Amino acid sequence: MNSINKTVSVNGRTYNWPQKPLVVVCIDGSEPDYIEQAIAGGHMPYLASALENGADLRAHCVVPSFTNPNNLSIVTGQPPAVHGISGNFFLDPESGDEVMMNDPKFLRADTIFKAFHDAGAKVCIVTAKDKLRRLLGHGLDFSSGRAVSFSSEKADETTMAENGIDNAQAMVGRDIPSVYSAELSEFIFDAGVKLMESMHPDLMYLSTTDYIQHKHAPGTPVANEFYAMMDGYFAKLDALGATLALTADHGMNAKHDDDGKPDVIYLQEVLDGMLDPGDARVILPITDPYVVHHGALGSFATIYLNDEIDPDAVADALRTIDGIATVYPREIGCRMFGLPEDRLGDLIVVSDKSKVLGTSADRHDLSQLKEPLRSHGGVSEQTVPLIVTKPIDELPGGRQLRNFDIFDVALNHVS
Ligand SMILES: [Zn+2]
Repeated sequence: MNSINKTVSVNGRTYNWPQKPLVVVCIDGSEPDYIEQAIAGGHMPYLASALENGADLRAHCVVPSFTNPNNLSIVTGQPPAVHGISGNFFLDPESGDEVMMNDPKFLRADTIFKAFHDAGAKVCIVTAKDKLRRLLGHGLDFSSGRAVSFSSEKADETTMAENGIDNAQAMVGRDIPSVYSAELSEFIFDAGVKLMESMHPDLMYLSTTDYIQHKHAPGTPVANEFYAMMDGYFAKLDALGATLALTADHGMNAKHDDDGKPDVIYLQEVLDGMLDPGDARVILPITDPYVVHHGALGSFATIYLNDEIDPDAVADALRTIDGIATVYPREIGCRMFGLPEDRLGDLIVVSDKSKVLGTSADRHDLSQLKEPLRSHGGVSEQTVPLIVTKPIDELPGGRQLRNFDIFDVALNHVS
């Protein structure tokens, strides 16, 4: 069969074989305003001209609007109810421990990359942080010579067996940047261009970090500089023959009061005042080892209650608190947001746009927060860009695009 006519099916969806190399970029924390203001200010000349004929759409991300659930949705084409990764962090019902969900054993679906790779495609994945790399590259056969997957964080430790490339840092020719820097993301794009030149992959996925977006609002000089940096690499990838498709894992909003202090509802403290000690346990799925830029404060929490506590009564009490947007019982919340019921607590809580949810004040180290808090996690950060640099045919009317439709749009609807 001619490869151009080939299709690949995975997780109940079918994708056309890429006619040109497809580069999907997940710009972490890219509230739509960032690109809009960077283009308006003349900082993204390549993208501005590509969008004269390309598609500049908006989509909804997965709630909780966090990094890992959304990256896995983008690369599986399905919500967390299917792929299983509902947060950075969850309460393992088997052990009762709060654990990181970055081990592939928690993944319940194959990625689009694996399906294409199994069908003969060349695939490259470059992420900022190593926590995502193992999930995104899961199932690829690195001995094939057709798969490369590494993080800029650990590009100096790559091996053929684990990453499909020995010493990726030497290929990129840059120092390993700090995990808290814009350069961590620039490293990814530089790697992407070099892999496009040397390997000419069918599919490439580049996933950045939201370090800049957590600290700098859309249209500010540092934000514009970051988007200008990306624009230069987008132009290079385009010049190498690639189609680019851009989206985000989630948006980003200011979450502080007028004095610049984080605007926090400490849920564990609220519940401990309402119930007996140990009756309620608050889990914040934003929690990860990299807390410097958000202090583990986001707009989404889940609550585990002891069996004798009535979830509906607790939900009613929480709904009266100023700044709490919604409280759902597990079953309804999981249906609303497409989440796996066995990985969420009895209640799902989402805060308002300007508020974040914490456990208790003594469990959040906010001393590292140097700028007024910007964060995500709620429904208020659900709208993200969905951009393709080539013209697309008309999508069915009334369709609410999701960020995890990006492979469908870019592979099946580019005209
Ligand atoms: Zn993110």
